[in-house]
Amino acid sequence: MPARYADVIVDITHADVDRVFTYGIPAGMDIVPGTRVSIPFGRQTTEGFVIGVKDAPGIDPDKIKDINAPLEEYPAILPQLIDLAQDMSAQTHCPLAATLRLMVPAQMRGGRIKVKTEKAAQLLVAGDALEDARKAQSRAPKRRLLLDLLSDGEVYPVSELAVLVRQPLEGLRALEQQGFVRVIDQEVLRSPYPDDAVTEPDPVLTAQQQEVLGELLPAVRSGTGQFLLYGVTGSGKTEVYIRAVHACLEAGKGAIVLIPEIVLTPQMVTWFRARFGDVAAVLHSRLSAGERFDEWRRIRRGKARVVIGARSAVFAPVDKLGILIVDEEHEGSYLSEHAPSYDAREVALSRAMREDATLLLASATPSVLSFARASRGDMMLLEMPRRVNDRPLPQVTLVDMREELRLGNKGIFSQELVQALTRCLDSGQQAMLFLNRRGYAPSVVCRKCGHVMGCPDCDVSLTYHAQDRSLHCHYCGLRLPMPGQCPECQSRYIRSIGIGTQKVEEEVAKLFPGVPLVRMDNDTTQGKDGHRTLLNRFRSGEARVMIGTQMIAKGLDFPQVTLVGVVLADLSVNLPDYRSAERTFQLLTQVAGRAGRADLPGEVVIQTYKPEHYAIAAAAQQDYRSFYHTEFARRRRDLYPPFTMMVRLLCQAKDEAAARSVSKRLLAHINELFVQYPQLRRRMLFIREDDAPIKRLMGRARAQVLMKLLVHRDSDRIIEHLTDLSRRDWPCDVTLEINPASMA
Ligand code: ADP
Ligand code: ZN
Ligand code: ZN
Repeated sequence: MPARYADVIVDITHADVDRVFTYGIPAGMDIVPGTRVSIPFGRQTTEGFVIGVKDAPGIDPDKIKDINAPLEEYPAILPQLIDLAQDMSAQTHCPLAATLRLMVPAQMRGGRIKVKTEKAAQLLVAGDALEDARKAQSRAPKRRLLLDLLSDGEVYPVSELAVLVRQPLEGLRALEQQGFVRVIDQEVLRSPYPDDAVTEPDPVLTAQQQEVLGELLPAVRSGTGQFLLYGVTGSGKTEVYIRAVHACLEAGKGAIVLIPEIVLTPQMVTWFRARFGDVAAVLHSRLSAGERFDEWRRIRRGKARVVIGARSAVFAPVDKLGILIVDEEHEGSYLSEHAPSYDAREVALSRAMREDATLLLASATPSVLSFARASRGDMMLLEMPRRVNDRPLPQVTLVDMREELRLGNKGIFSQELVQALTRCLDSGQQAMLFLNRRGYAPSVVCRKCGHVMGCPDCDVSLTYHAQDRSLHCHYCGLRLPMPGQCPECQSRYIRSIGIGTQKVEEEVAKLFPGVPLVRMDNDTTQGKDGHRTLLNRFRSGEARVMIGTQMIAKGLDFPQVTLVGVVLADLSVNLPDYRSAERTFQLLTQVAGRAGRADLPGEVVIQTYKPEHYAIAAAAQQDYRSFYHTEFARRRRDLYPPFTMMVRLLCQAKDEAAARSVSKRLLAHINELFVQYPQLRRRMLFIREDDAPIKRLMGRARAQVLMKLLVHRDSDRIIEHLTDLSRRDWPCDVTLEINPASMA
C-alpha cells in the first residue's frame, strides 16, 4: 500500500487525457506538488507533473499504480506557478499539461538535457596527516605538488589543476586510493555571458526619475500597485527599473524584467549585470539549451533573483516575486501565437496580483489598450515627458516623396536626407537608416505580361535578395534562383520593384563610397552572437551608418547617432489590420528616439507618400497624446478593440476546397447557435466567412470565419461555444484566435 497519493497531470497534451490521474507514492519517496515524475501510463512509461498530494486515493486503491520515480530531486514548478498554469488552462481552453509545460525549460522534458559535470578534487587530510601524506609521495613530485595545490581544502576542478600539473587525474586517482584525496563529479553551470563585464557608478537620478520612484518604491516595498510608465525615448526608464529592482532585492524579493526582442538584450543585460552581477540571470531563445537550462536552475535555486528575458521569462521560477517589469510594453512580441497562446502582459498582471508583486508596464508609445486602462484609473499613470538632462527631443522633418518625384528625383533618398547624411558624416557622427523590409526588393515582375513571381507554397510575392541573386519567401523560407525569363511568357524583361534594406545599403555605398556600413536585419543577424558583433562594430565607431529593419528601431542607445532617416514610413500603414496606425506611430516614434541621445542634438528625416496620415503626422510631432486621442476615437467609432474583440476561426487544409468547406460548416454552426440563443446574436457585430488574407501559407490553404464581438459578459459565452466548436473532429486544422497579433 502506498503511503500517500499524488494528483498527476500526464505530460501529453491531448484533450482525452486532460484530467487528473491518481498515482501512489511509494513509502520513502519524496514527492511534493510541482515535482515532475516518471509514471507508468497505459503500457508505457511517461512523464507527469504532480499538482497535489493527498492521504486518501479517492478511488479504488487496486486501480492505482505507483509513481516510478521523481525526475528531479526538487519540485520543478513552484506552487504559485501551478495555480497560474491552472488559470491559464481554464482561460485559454488549453490542456493543463500544455500550460504546465510553459513553466519548465523545454529540453528538461524527456530528459533531453543533462546537468553538466566536471571532475574535481578535494583534500581529505590536514595538519600532521597532510605532512604524512606529503612524505608518502617522496618519489612522486607531481602528487606532492597536487597535495600542495589542494592544501586549503577547497574543491578544485581538475581542469584548473591541469594548468599547473600535466594530466593531474592520474596522480589524483593514486592519491584517492591512498585515502588522501577525493575525486568527485562537480556540477558546472554553462554561462551565456561574454567577459565584457563593466561596472559603472550609479548615476544621480533626474528629478523626473525621483518623482516616479517616489510613487513606485513604496508600492514595491508593500507588494502592491499596477503602473504604466509613459516616458519619452531617452527619458531614462532603465534607471527607474534598476532602482525598483534594487528596492525589491533589499526587501528580500525577486524581480522579472521582460524585454521584447533579443537585439536589446546585449545592452540591457550588460547594464543589469554591471549593477547586479551574478544575481541577474537571462532567459531567451538564443541561448543554447544547456545555458538556458542552467540559467533556469540558478533562478529556481534562488541564486539568481533578477531575471531579464523575453516573453516566456514571465514564467521564470522566481520565488517571493517583488516586481514584474514589462519594457516597451506596446510590442507585439509579447503575444504568443501558438497554443497555448497568451499575452505576456496579461500573464504578468495575473502573476503580480496572485503573488503580491508590483506590475510596471513601460513605453514611450504605450499601447492604446494600456493607455486606455490607465486613463480609466485601472492602472496608475507615471510620466517622464522629458529626456535626461533636458536633452531636446530630435527635430523631425517630414519629406513628401510625391513632391520629390515631381521635382524629378527618382532615387530612394530625398534631397533633405542626402544633405542631412552628408552633414552628419562630415562632422564625424553616426547615422541610422530605417526601412522595415529586408531583402533587396519586395517583388519581381515581368514587364511584358505583368506576372509577379510568387511562392509556390504561399500566396505571397517573393523577395529578391541581391547577395545570392535569388528569390526568397519571407513566410516559408523557400529560396529559388532568380529566373532568367518569365515563367509565363518567356520574356527576358524581368525587373525587381520596390526597396528593401539591401537596396538601401547599395544606395548609401554609391553615395558615400568608402564609408563603413552595417546592415541589421534577419538576414545578417543569425546565430547567437550575430547581433552583438554588428552592434559592437557600430558602437566602436568602426561603422558610420547602420541600416536596418524594426530591429534597430527600439531600445538601442548609441550616443554618437545624430541622424535617423526613415526611408519609407508608409509600409506599415497599408496593412489590413486595425492596429496598422498604432504600429506605424510606435515604430516611427521609437526609431526617431534613437537620434540625439547624448550631448549632440538629433535630427530625424521621415520620407513618406502620406504626410497627412494622422499616425505619421503625430509621429513627426512626437505627440503621443494627440495620436492616442485620434486613434481612441477612431476605435470607438469603427468599433475596434478595446471596444470589441476580433475573433476568428482559422481553417488550414491541404487544398482550398477542404478549408473552405470547413469554414462554411463552421459558419452554419454559429448561425444555428444564434437561432438557439438569440440574445447572443446581439453581441456579434460582424461575421464573415472567406479566404484568409494570405490564402495559402507553407503549402496549406487558409480559410476563416472572422467575427467582431462586443465586449460583454455574453461574449465570453460565445467564446466558450466557439472553443467547443473548434475542438470538434474537423477534417482540417481549426484554431480559434482572439485579437490575434496578425490578421493575415
Ligand atoms: P529610455 O529607455 O527611457 O529610452 P534609457 O534608459 O535608455 O532611456 O536612458 C537614456 C540615456 O540616459 C542612457 O544613456 C542612460 O545611461 C542615461 N541616463 C539615464 N538616467 C540617467 C541619469 N539619472 N543621469 C545621467 N544619465 C542618465
Ligand atoms: Zn511575362
Ligand atoms: Zn513560401
